[in-house]
Formats: sequence, C-alpha cells, structure tokens
Amino acid sequence: MSFIPFDQRDGWIWLDGEFVPWREAKVHVLIHALHYGSCVFEGERMYDGQIFKLTEHTERLFKSAQLLDFKIPFTVAQIAEACKQTAAKNGLTDCYIRPVAWRGPDMGVAAHNAKVQVAIATWEWPSYFDPELVRKGIRMAHAKYRRPSPETAPTASKAAGLYMICTISKIAAERDGYQDALMLDWRGYLAEATGANLFLIRDGVIHTPTPDCFLDGITRRSVIELARKSGFEVIERHIPADELGTFSEVFITGTAAEVTPVAEIGEHRFTPGNITFTLMDDFSRMVRRQLQPA
Ligand code: PMP
Repeated sequence: MSFIPFDQRDGWIWLDGEFVPWREAKVHVLIHALHYGSCVFEGERMYDGQIFKLTEHTERLFKSAQLLDFKIPFTVAQIAEACKQTAAKNGLTDCYIRPVAWRGPDMGVAAHNAKVQVAIATWEWPSYFDPELVRKGIRMAHAKYRRPSPETAPTASKAAGLYMICTISKIAAERDGYQDALMLDWRGYLAEATGANLFLIRDGVIHTPTPDCFLDGITRRSVIELARKSGFEVIERHIPADELGTFSEVFITGTAAEVTPVAEIGEHRFTPGNITFTLMDDFSRMVRRQLQPA
C-alpha cells in the first residue's frame, strides 16, 4: 500500500467538539504550539472495537496538559467518549487513536490569549515496525541525545516538545539502517527507545529502567503486571549503560510498538527468547480480552 500524506486522507477528525472532514481539520500558522511546543498528545489502540486502557490514556492527556500549565476545555469522560466516536465515525474497530491538545493562536510566550484546542484522529496502523523484522528482533542504534533531568523539563508529560530528541534520534538511526535508537538518561543510565519503554532479561529475571525522567508507559505497566502474574521476577532500577552487554534478551513496549523484540543495540547482540515471546503472546491476548487483564 502506498503512503498517503496525512493531510490528504479521507474520513473525519474530531476538532474542538465537532467532526470535520479530514482534509479540513486545519490550524493557523500562528498557533502557540507550533512556535513554542505547547502541545500534549496521546497514542491509543483500539482492538476489536475496544480502546485498550482508554481511561488511563485520557487521564494522562489531562495530566500532561496540567504539567504544561494549560487546561483542556472538556472533561476526561467527554474526551474518552469522543475517542470512541471518532473511531466509529471512521468505521474503524482496529486502529490507532491520536488525541492532541494545544495552545492555539497567540505569539506571546506566556500565551495569555491562547485558546486551548483539542483534536482526535484515528487511522489504521497495524504494525509500528516491519512485521518481518519484528520476528527476528529490531536493530537499534545508540542515540546522540539523552533524556533530560526532571529538573530541566516536564518529563512526566507526553509533551510534543520532548519528542524533538526522539525525532532526531530516530531519523539518524533509520538513516544508518537501524529501526530505532536507545536513549540514555541525563545520568548515563539506560532510558528508553524513541517511542517505547525498555526491558532487559538476564538469567530469567526481567529488568527495566525506573521511569523517573521519561514516560512510565501504560503498556510498560501492563507488561510488568502480566510478567509478575506469570511468575517472572521484574526488577525496576537504574541500569548503568555498561551493563547492556550482560543481558540475553531485550524487548521494547509501547502503544504503537506493542511488545517488540530487539536483536541488536549498537555493538551488542540479543536473541529473542521464551520470556519475550510469552509476553508478546500474553499481551496480544490481553488487549483482545482473550486473557484476563493484568
Ligand atoms: N516512551 C515514549 C517516548 C513514548 O512515545 C511512548 C509511547 N507513548 C512510550 C514510552 C510508551 O508509552 P505507552 O505504553 O503508554 O504507549
């Protein structure tokens, strides 16, 4: 299927409380968000007609906005309902959902006159990485930039501005033939991929970085609960980068990436194995409600 540019598709986008035809869902060039990064968003997936962890995602959207000191002019329940309606209006039951909220037109840094705008778009996005590669495990490069300290940026917010680092890292990785990049945190500990959290396995034990300066993913939390329920030990801790070579299996988790095995990070090689495959399978059954939620 050839790629259709995102502004040239058909369907409906929910914008400030109303459905507008996809191609007419436009913003002005002088919105504050475009110039100063005052924008927060979510990424959700609907499986078999039900959005996975819809309330958690919607609450995180509101918390992200609050961390940027702006208020979304709807309730959590209204936005959650609008997500469902947007998928329905577009005739989708298995799709990705993107709610986004931003400060509208205003050129003052303090944005006193900016109205907060909200939109929701949905589209089919079956696989974040090439399914062929996922079976073998993806290849990751080392990112040039690190995740900033929580004293430097609102790191718990899923804020568009923080994705600048992810975009630079992912472009560079793909240019060099990799699929993603591993970012360290400001202290030099292992942090995350550009749009997913990191898990590493050694001697049957699962290790994952403490999310104290990057997103504590909703998929991450679900996979930790699933793993513990299956009897695996999961340790959350600060993991120095020089431990990378001591792990045998690595995988990443995220709404878009789901559970994706990793075969390579820079000079290190990993072999996707039983624990990764078990969690991939459990996760895909859980989101389709074939397995009790964690
Ligand atoms: N880290 C980053 C930078 C992300 O963009 C995402 C995707 N939202 C995640 C982690 C994983 O979060 P979640 O599982 O909630 O999608």
